[in-house]
Amino acid sequence: MAPDTDPVVEPVPAFDDNYLWLLVRGSQAAVVDPGDAAPILLRLQRRSLALQAILVTHHHGDHVGGVAELAGATGARVYGPRAESIPSRDVALAGGDRIDVLGIGFDVFDVPGHTLGHIAYHAPAQRMLFCGDTLFAAGCGRLFEGTAAQMTASLAALARLPADTRVYCAHEYTMSNLRFALAVEPGNEALRQRQRSCMTMRERGEPTVPSTIGEELATNPFLRCDVPAVRRAAEARAGRSLPTTEAVFAVVRQWKNAF
Ligand code: ZN
Ligand code: FE
Repeated sequence: MAPDTDPVVEPVPAFDDNYLWLLVRGSQAAVVDPGDAAPILLRLQRRSLALQAILVTHHHGDHVGGVAELAGATGARVYGPRAESIPSRDVALAGGDRIDVLGIGFDVFDVPGHTLGHIAYHAPAQRMLFCGDTLFAAGCGRLFEGTAAQMTASLAALARLPADTRVYCAHEYTMSNLRFALAVEPGNEALRQRQRSCMTMRERGEPTVPSTIGEELATNPFLRCDVPAVRRAAEARAGRSLPTTEAVFAVVRQWKNAF
């Protein structure tokens, strides 16, 4: 039986800027998006942790590269999006599904945009969101497969979660995202404060994540496409009026691609 405490969630750095998220509860563990098996296996062995589950958000190599090896070495159950090809997947998930991992209930969200089958895992009782490459700290994923309309809807669904929900994204992109966010909204004081505090964290070698939904609502331009200052900046960039949130999002996303 899992102990009656919240899990400890640890970032495991991998590659240049990925975070593999390790959830530990007692002697049991789960991992989100293990793009590499080696650093996870090392932690499991050092601390005699039994890996119960592997949660995958989408099919990109930096998120699934270690899945088959980890599943083979530990027998962990592999959860992943139904609409994508995921190595060693045992349980195929889509929006509306609910799973239990380490005694934690996770609701599954469909969040198409970065990829078409991308899903996110939300634990309402623990106020935790694992969102892969959909929502980043002060940014969002590139549109590799989906449309601006899909990503706008996906981000809006995540933005409706409680403000104190912790956002565990899969990359340390925060400082470059904040530089861009300030180009869009130079007058946003919360954004300047966030840049100062994240700079301090990076100077200390600390991750800038998780953030919270509340912080993202105040500072993430991709969640603020309905804010007049963001719309005006996007309209100035595009040289035309942008009547919908979706149209603003599309311009801000393209602007970021070229930034
Ligand atoms: Zn990706
Ligand atoms: Fe990624």
